[in-house]
Amino acid sequence: KPILLWLRRDLRLADHPMLTAAETSGRPVLALFILDDLAARYGAAPRWRLGEALADFLPRLEALGCPVVIRRGPALETLRAVAKEAGAAAVWWSRDLDPAAIKRDTEIKSALKAEGIEARSFAGQVMFPPWEVQTGQGGPYRVYTPFWKAVRGLPVAPPLAAVKSLRPGPALRGETLEDLALGRDMRRGAAVVAKHARVGEAAAQARLTRFLEGPIEDYKIRRDFMGEAATSELSENLAWGEISPGQIWHAGQRALHEGAAGAEHFLKELVWREFAWHLMFHFPNLAQENWRSEWNAFPWRGDNDDAERWRRGMTGEPLVDAAMRELYVTGRMHNRARMIAASYLTKHLMTDWRVGLKWFEDCLIDHDPAANAMGWQWVAGCGPDAAPYFRVFNPASQAEKFDKDGAYRRRWIAEGNRHAPDTARDFFAAVPKSWGLTPGARLPDPVVDLAEGRARALDAYAAREKN
Ligand code: FAD
Repeated sequence: KPILLWLRRDLRLADHPMLTAAETSGRPVLALFILDDLAARYGAAPRWRLGEALADFLPRLEALGCPVVIRRGPALETLRAVAKEAGAAAVWWSRDLDPAAIKRDTEIKSALKAEGIEARSFAGQVMFPPWEVQTGQGGPYRVYTPFWKAVRGLPVAPPLAAVKSLRPGPALRGETLEDLALGRDMRRGAAVVAKHARVGEAAAQARLTRFLEGPIEDYKIRRDFMGEAATSELSENLAWGEISPGQIWHAGQRALHEGAAGAEHFLKELVWREFAWHLMFHFPNLAQENWRSEWNAFPWRGDNDDAERWRRGMTGEPLVDAAMRELYVTGRMHNRARMIAASYLTKHLMTDWRVGLKWFEDCLIDHDPAANAMGWQWVAGCGPDAAPYFRVFNPASQAEKFDKDGAYRRRWIAEGNRHAPDTARDFFAAVPKSWGLTPGARLPDPVVDLAEGRARALDAYAAREKN
């Protein structure tokens, strides 16, 4: 009897435990993608990017003999219906540690089992499953460095070879990707972001190779320079499972043994991703609630006009606006720029971190629920292992340090630059018409004076400390 392979954020052929198990079982298979409530709730850019990932991956899976069917609807009902039509005795999937996915999958597993259908979930999203890593006292880690020390020496299975052939199960009728219109909410943005996205397994491997052949050497020093391509840029592919963390880990370990200077630092960054999933698994409200509850009384502003200027890359603070425009044009943002833009919103503009988190969720093609939530709480000061609140990034001095020659700002800001590159002009092509933006002669005046904004944030912090 056939196995139904339920595809989610695991769109690759290599190092894919579920697909390898399907191949070695010799049983007939068919693959299913469901646009269920959870996938339908992704932000505009992630949903578009998911569509691109599927458009690349599904034909490759079909070429191996695996029929693919696309449906839309509640996951459990859809799985039941498709299993019945296909006469499938088993439903398999790769685990997704998003708390909403865990809830859904747990319910589905018990419902299917009760109906006599084998329901089996596989590893692949992380290297160190959160329930397997515990502190000496038992319980989850809350601080990164001890987590790193605990996992750095743990074995990570060598990557599995790409599956080569699958025994075809029945082909069923369903919808097409076009029917799902996953890019619908991107409007004018999709054509612009598409120039920067690198979709699929081959693109992910090319990124890894480029990184290992050059940037890894100076990674520790250069990763902070926003105008350079000094990082791996693999977050986009990791988010959709187009590459596995294990593949990157083993490549990084090889580079370490061959003496690449930046390799250990790179492995550490990859473990920040594991740490984020560890936190999110053990604290499933990480994206919703202040991790330190003493922050609940902090007078953050809700959504407001200044935050809207932040979203639109129109704060008048050049580095912050460059960062927000990079986000809109590429669907990604340099890590240091993420920290600076997030600090500006939560501190200089005193705005609730969840307002920023939502915008990132809508705009990032590498959106990762755990890394995003951890990143925002870390910058805001209310998260696990967070930057102390009084650490207020100053965008002007950050620019002086990490964008000294202004290359990053020039790439994204068209105002005042008659020779602005396409990247800067594209921002105006990508934003909704309703924003009414055209490149003026210069950026607007800053929303807030940097020194005043900093003082206001620190006063509010001091008042919170007293209470
Ligand atoms: P590299 O420097 O090449 O690092 C390799 C990999 O390590 C990355 O691909 C990523 O998987 C992991 N990594 C590196 N830094 C971090 C980090 N700080 N936290 C978690 N994992 C890390 N990352 C996302 O993947 N998705 C998000 O939605 C996301 N939102 C963020 C929001 C804020 C406010 C902040 C401060 C950070 C956020 N990050 C997010 C983390 C980080 O900015 C990106 O992972 C990084 O910029 C990706 O670029 P890269 O692939 O070139 O990274």
